[in-house]
Amino acid sequence: MIPVEGSEYDVPCDTLIFAIGQSRMLEILPEPVEITGKHTTSNARVFVSGDFAYGSLDVIHAVADAKEAALEMDEYLMGEKRRAKSVEIRLLEDQMFGTGRLRDMDLAAPPVMDVLSVVKRARDEEVDRGFDDEQTRIAAQRCYLCNYKYEIDQDRCIHCDWCMKVMPRDCIHRTSFLFRGRDGADEAVDTPIPREATYIWIDSDECIRCGACLRICPTEAITVRKTDSQEHVTAVEYLPRQAVAHPPRF
Ligand code: SF4
Ligand code: SF4
Repeated sequence: MIPVEGSEYDVPCDTLIFAIGQSRMLEILPEPVEITGKHTTSNARVFVSGDFAYGSLDVIHAVADAKEAALEMDEYLMGEKRRAKSVEIRLLEDQMFGTGRLRDMDLAAPPVMDVLSVVKRARDEEVDRGFDDEQTRIAAQRCYLCNYKYEIDQDRCIHCDWCMKVMPRDCIHRTSFLFRGRDGADEAVDTPIPREATYIWIDSDECIRCGACLRICPTEAITVRKTDSQEHVTAVEYLPRQAVAHPPRF
């Protein structure tokens, strides 16, 4: 690092936290504290997170990790778990409307964001110039709404194959065998022979949520489920209280 003469400038601020570096300064931990877990140390009152805990990574991981560490600190200080995560899975209310996704959206190419040319870059200017209104609209249209899942109720399916005739891509399979793969995802063994087919199965990795199969199905065997993750304050009375052995003092 070589200082460039005349390049200094003043930034007015109330508080400055000097937190820039390329390596961890473990020596700032009070002796003889050592990192023992993802956020824990040999002193129950000292927590670590982000780059300091596991070394240099990107800011997104650091922020997410700090949030996890904050929840652990909250649990330690309050003596009970006060927040929880859950996944809500529900049938889409208006099944026939589907996800609202149009096939036209396939044609929307990803907008390219303007960046400041290298020679114009300065310390206080954003390099990524952002999207204008039209680019934002196009980018939002391209969302594939992956939190929707199209499924076939095998008890209702009569193997008419109509859904396979309207599918826009290789998304619905005539399968003889379904199993759970090593990564936990469903995998299917396809068969070209109708009488050998045990399931008509939707491959969610290929599905673009167009709704064509749902609209054509004569037996209403196809449904859409929506999945949302939620974080909420836990009803404290349902959780076992853990006594704090040593009330924290700093
Ligand atoms: S909703 Fe999915 S599975 Fe159904 S036809 Fe469209 S892409 Fe295929
Ligand atoms: S259209 Fe409906 S009934 Fe026919 S094969 Fe597809 S899911 Fe089964």
